[in-house]
Order: sequence, then C-alpha cells, then structure tokens
Amino acid sequence: MDFTDKTVLVTGSARGIGREIAEAFLGRGANVVICDLNQEAVDATSKELGEKTIGVTANVTKVDDVEALFEAATAKFGRVDVVVNNAGITRDTLMIRMDEKDWDAVLDTNLKGAFLVTKSAARLMMKQKAGRIVNISSVVGLIGNAGQANYSASKAGLIGLTKSAAKELAARGITVNAVAPGYIATDMTKDLPQAAKDYFMNNIPLKREGRPSDVAAAVLFLASDEAAYLTGQVLAVDGGLTM
Ligand code: NDP
Repeated sequence: MDFTDKTVLVTGSARGIGREIAEAFLGRGANVVICDLNQEAVDATSKELGEKTIGVTANVTKVDDVEALFEAATAKFGRVDVVVNNAGITRDTLMIRMDEKDWDAVLDTNLKGAFLVTKSAARLMMKQKAGRIVNISSVVGLIGNAGQANYSASKAGLIGLTKSAAKELAARGITVNAVAPGYIATDMTKDLPQAAKDYFMNNIPLKREGRPSDVAAAVLFLASDEAAYLTGQVLAVDGGLTM
C-alpha cells in the first residue's frame, strides 16, 4: 500500500486513533492534513509530524470551518485523495437520564460532522473523478449499547450515510467504506467502568483490547488502490467481538 504524493485529510487527528491514522499514512508517503478542534493541539501535532503535514483548526459541525478546511488542504497540496471521518465524542448515560443537549452534541459531531465533511469531499473528488472516504463508526452502531443511545444512534447513522454515499458516488470513481472499531485503548475508553472493561475482555475472542494501530491498518487498506473494488462496506476491527 503506497500513498506517495497522495493527500489524506483526517478529522479529529490531534490525538488518539485519528493521530495514529495520520502517522500511518505519513509512513506510506502521503501528505496529511491534520484537523482538530484545539488550535494548540493541532499546531503541536502538525509540527511533531513534520513538513508533509499541515494543521487546520476546524470544528466539523460548522459548515464554514469545513469549507475552510478543504480550501486550506487544496491550497497547500492541490487535491485531496483520501478523507477519514474520525472526529467523534461520547456523552454516555442511560437514555432516561440523557439530556437533549447530550443527544444533540453527539449527533452533531459524529453524524452531521461526517455529513458536512463528506459533502465537501464529494464535490472535490467528483471533479478529480477519484477518491476514497473512510468513516470511523463503531461496533455499538451495529449492536447497540446500554448507556450509549446517542452514540450508538450516531454510529449506526454513519453506516447509513456510508452506504448512501457509496451508492451516489460509485459512478464517479469514489469509494465510501466504514470501519467499526470495538474496544480500543485511547483517552475515550480509559475511564470506562471496570465492569465494562471486564465485559469486553471476557467477550473478545482474541483476548486483548484493540490498539489505534489496529484501526489504522484497516483504514489504510480501505483507502488503498488494493481496495478499489470495495464500497459501502463496514469492516469490524474488534478482535471478533461482534462476529
Ligand atoms: P479521542 O477522544 O481520543 O479523540 C477524538 C478527537 O476528535 C479529539 O482530538 C477531539 O478533539 C476531536 N474532535 C471532537 N469533536 C470534534 C469536532 N467537532 N471537530 C473536530 N474534531 C473534533 O477519541 P478516539 O481516538 O478514541 O476515537 C476516534 C474515533 O474512533 C471516534 O469517532 C470514536 O467514536 C471512534 N471509536 C473509538 C473507539 C474506542 O474504543 N476508542 C471504539 C469505536 C469507535 P478534542 O481533543 O479537542 O476534544
């Protein structure tokens, strides 16, 4: 898998899985656009990752930010070949206690954000007659999870968005796929209750938590030339949890 001279834009890439994905593409020769909410984190990450990287501070829920993000990417690199919709948040609690604002915040970032980024990506990629979009969903978008009605709905919605976009964009040479990670060790999961961690460890056939690099490897494959005949698919990276 070679991404030399390709430009890859990863949302939510100042830390966690997004940063790992950005580093994996850099390691295969790509130019990478780091996009995240916090300007200091964006500047620090893009500086650490080196000269084939630019950092853009953008909130994926804001249409103006998303348009400016693609303008910055094309101004620097001329095109965008791969877009990874990775930015995501959780606001976990049981549904009967869930505030409307926690529902809206999660749906806004995880689903509307991916829609806005995909729309801008599609406009550009249609002109290029080529492109790869990879959406980071979650296994809870496939099987649900108590305490995550908002998050599960957003990640299931992202799968619907993936399949619809795949159908709309296939004739233009653009593929759209999703990765559904299971339990991956990042800041997002470090404060999970011990009972939830135990549940995962007891039910993951491969008997370990996932690593951000496990997710990055799947994203690289779906974005590669080798995956040219795959679109509208959801690849679970979960140690066998949902099989
Ligand atoms: P982290 O919380 O570690 O990182 C998420 C990143 O997204 C942060 O840098 C965050 O910025 C950024 N972000 C949040 N909101 C926005 C926004 N509106 N615009 C731009 N950037 C934003 O999460 P992970 O790395 O663990 O998760 C990455 C993706 O993988 C998410 O979509 C998550 O749902 C998904 N996932 C993770 C799993 C896991 O077990 N960790 C399992 C399944 C799916 P800031 O630091 O400023 O908040």
